[in-house]
Amino acid sequence: MGLPAKRRTKQSKRERAAHFALKATSLTTCPKCKHAILPHHICQNCGYYRGKDVLHLKQRDERREKRVKRREKQAAEK
Ligand SMILES: [Zn+2]
Repeated sequence: MGLPAKRRTKQSKRERAAHFALKATSLTTCPKCKHAILPHHICQNCGYYRGKDVLHLKQRDERREKRVKRREKQAAEK
């Protein structure tokens, strides 16, 4: 383990810490659903990016519903 060669003064410590403050996240709005999104990211609300459906959330929800119904049917048969 390396040891610091010299004592760091209060001033030099504070000068370094002057850059530690967090900046507020910059957000834009989704052009499709007007939800707040991070720039250059897929909208998590509607799954669109640059006017294209990327996540296919609607199809996913439909598949999920079908699966749930199928399992309920199987459970009722047993
Ligand atoms: Zn959206």
